Amino acid sequence: MVIVYGYRNSLNVKKRMGMRPCPNCGYNTEQAFAEEKFKATVFYIPIFSYTMRRGQVCPNCGMYRVLNRKEFKAEMNNY
Ligand SMILES: [Zn+2]
Repeated sequence: MVIVYGYRNSLNVKKRMGMRPCPNCGYNTEQAFAEEKFKATVFYIPIFSYTMRRGQVCPNCGMYRVLNRKEFKAEMNNY
């Protein structure tokens, strides 16, 4: 019997911050708060998942400003 297993990562955008200059590249881009999740799969069905990191993402340069859970919630409520 063959068991197909694997994993995948997904980036879930939680809240868009709107156009603002990126602290890394300086371009005016659509910044967002996002969570990166790791999902383990068996036969392509997700079995369990956990959040690897959460933070502020820039789509232009790929900057990922990592925040802990408390900072993430506080900053999301500020925008
Ligand atoms: Zn950037």
